Amino acid sequence: MKAIIIGAGLGGLLSAAKLSQVGYQVEIFERLPITGGRFTNLNYRGFQLSSGALHTLPHGPTGPLTQLLKEVNADVQIIRSDQPTIRMPLEKSNPNYRKGFKDIFFNKFFTPLSNKDRLKIALLIVSTRKNRPSGSNLKAWIINQFKDEWLLKLADSFCGWSLSLKSDNVPLEEFFEMIENMYRFGGPGVPIGGCKGVIDALEAVIIANGGRIYNKTEVSKIIVENGRAAGIFAGDRVYEANLIISNLGHAATALLCSEALLDKTYASYFKMLELLKPSAGIKICLAADEPLVGHSGILLTPYAKRINGINEVTHVDPNLAPPGKHLTMSHQHIAPENLKNLRVEIELGLEDLKEIFPGKKYKVLLIQSYHDGWPVNRAASGLDPGNETPILELYVVGDGAKGKGGIEIEGVALGVAATMTKILG
Ligand SMILES: Cc1cc2nc3c(=O)[nH]c(=O)nc-3n(C[C@H](O)[C@H](O)[C@H](O)COP(=O)(O)OP(=O)(O)OC[C@H]3O[C@@H](n4cnc5c(N)ncnc54)[C@H](O)[C@@H]3O)c2cc1C
Repeated sequence: MKAIIIGAGLGGLLSAAKLSQVGYQVEIFERLPITGGRFTNLNYRGFQLSSGALHTLPHGPTGPLTQLLKEVNADVQIIRSDQPTIRMPLEKSNPNYRKGFKDIFFNKFFTPLSNKDRLKIALLIVSTRKNRPSGSNLKAWIINQFKDEWLLKLADSFCGWSLSLKSDNVPLEEFFEMIENMYRFGGPGVPIGGCKGVIDALEAVIIANGGRIYNKTEVSKIIVENGRAAGIFAGDRVYEANLIISNLGHAATALLCSEALLDKTYASYFKMLELLKPSAGIKICLAADEPLVGHSGILLTPYAKRINGINEVTHVDPNLAPPGKHLTMSHQHIAPENLKNLRVEIELGLEDLKEIFPGKKYKVLLIQSYHDGWPVNRAASGLDPGNETPILELYVVGDGAKGKGGIEIEGVALGVAATMTKILG
């Protein structure tokens, strides 16, 4: 049996590793000269910057991605990060970091609340695991339950960091699925070698199992015969296959087989594609001689103007920076209406960093913005339609087709695992 994978991002490589392990002849087509998509390292003066991700696995060494990596015998070490912290301003009446701050642990997020609201949180933590509350989105639910500014800011900071969305764009059901997964799988971790540590390990498995990766080879069309995927066009050649897995998200995949999808029986699929809005963000990479965050966990910054959170992965793997240096990376969500003002958004992010790290010395290494064809997420969490397409033997994996409650690459892994169950039983 022959499988073709379109795109060598994380979802494509995970699928290829699994299929090649069970005897499929696997060929991967990647338009770029590099492998790994938005999950690989970019070496800049000895700092391991990245094509997307901040070298963090949301559920660390016990999450769905690590489980799948173990299943395919990919040799990569993943270390649990320190507990996340939240940077709190000292002045409640006029809160900003310029006037001083203190850090609290994430699991003590309720401490700034009134006694009444603390009690309510304690009860909700127990009750919502059994009976999921209903409601449209996280922000509306918080306003309805608490009317508390602090919880709203924290929710925006958490959703901005983990999903590159504001809390009013996160469906309530999806938020509680994510929280349940945090109980089930635990907190974040960092792979040794960063994102590329994972990608290199997967590549080694695929090659050892006889698979092939063609870089600089763009797929221009998916061939469909009698409602079934039969092959692809890449370069000037046709490649036939029994199974095709696309790592491009549903919308880009549909474009590659648009002639076949013109049939009106597929109208509902096209209608659903309109809902799939990518999420956008800005990453700022800093170099410092002394630690800025001071631990390997995430630092959430709910009172910053734009920055949602920051990490410093060199506490886990010092080789992600030159000897004696630290690599610190911030992430900020971009609201759709601000995409036309990228420069302003970047300036606000840089101003935030000065306030978050007053008096500290650092150098800005790189500023990257992610949107449209190279976004933070291809589909906002909780809205994608899963891994199947209306075409038989054509599946979609990656962050445009995640499992429910799957944060970022953990969602990619959940989606690949679900796809493999459908294909292999
Ligand atoms: C700023 C930022 C920070 C992030 N931080 C984190 C984080 O810390 N932790 C985390 O878990 N996640 C994070 N993410 C998300 C994570 O990077 C992505 O969810 C994940 O990498 C997406 O993988 P994918 O499987 O969808 O593949 P993609 O990365 O989308 O790869 C798809 C590949 O397909 C190729 N391709 C496209 N069209 C064609 C074609 N026609 N023919 C051949 N090849 C084609 C592309 O070149 C690409 O290489 C972050 C993302 C960004 C942008």
